[in-house]
Amino acid sequence: MQNIQTARTIERLVKGVQTADGAGVKLTRVLTQDLQRRLDPFLMLDAFRNDNPDDYIGGFPDHPHRGFETVTYMIAGRMRHRDSAGNEGLLSPGAVQWMTAGSGLIHSELPEQQEGLMEGFQLWLNLPAQHKMTKPSYRDIPSEQIPEVLTEHGIRIRVIAGQYGETAGAVTRDHTQPLFLDIHLPANTSLSLPLTEGHNAFVYTYRGQVRVGETDVADRCMGILGNDGDHVQIAADQATRVLLIAGQPLNEPIAQYGPFVMNTAEQIQQTLRDYRAGQFEAAVVQSL
Ligand code: MN
Repeated sequence: MQNIQTARTIERLVKGVQTADGAGVKLTRVLTQDLQRRLDPFLMLDAFRNDNPDDYIGGFPDHPHRGFETVTYMIAGRMRHRDSAGNEGLLSPGAVQWMTAGSGLIHSELPEQQEGLMEGFQLWLNLPAQHKMTKPSYRDIPSEQIPEVLTEHGIRIRVIAGQYGETAGAVTRDHTQPLFLDIHLPANTSLSLPLTEGHNAFVYTYRGQVRVGETDVADRCMGILGNDGDHVQIAADQATRVLLIAGQPLNEPIAQYGPFVMNTAEQIQQTLRDYRAGQFEAAVVQSL
């Protein structure tokens, strides 16, 4: 038997939806609710890039979460977060906040800067049913603590989660095995990256343009990868930055009501009762 390598190709291109969230922060919801099943275990990807403070200064005042994890990745600007247990942290460019909402917390995410460019992403990663009510926790990962690989052709790969070659990412998760890479390709370079078969995967270009197989993925566009194949080939004619995100699907029911993601409607009802009863305010959030 010969081991035949198959490259994954783009199944669908997605531009996302322009919307506003929090206190009027303009953003692009790239991974929308209708794609949650296709891109399981990922529930949402928001991309924000604003240079007008009016479009971001309100930030995201106090709001709750339960049942999943949020991964905030700053590219430009600074964001301060505070939670219901009194913890706070400041995210600078290149930093990641990995927050496990678990059984529930209330927090705010507010821009620290008054002017200039504010750019970044927030990815929502689902928790398996048995871990949805885990104790809430978070970890701030400064830019310099995110492992990086620099190839001989000058391609920079920031390993936020998962594994690239011998390099373990800043975060790993057993159940969903998320891979979250930020790849900076100089002009006229290409890269082949292994992907676990059956894991759902997509790319999102946030500078320049990439080509995956025969398909161009334009600036600020998501390319959903087909699931057949054990690697993806990414090429860039110009200097480009692209996120590659993949994970093992949970194949569990998804019940979302705003910032709460559980498995059943009854669990959502219970979540609303707990929230109204003030249980989220009392959450003890640990920083890891
Ligand atoms: Mn939040």
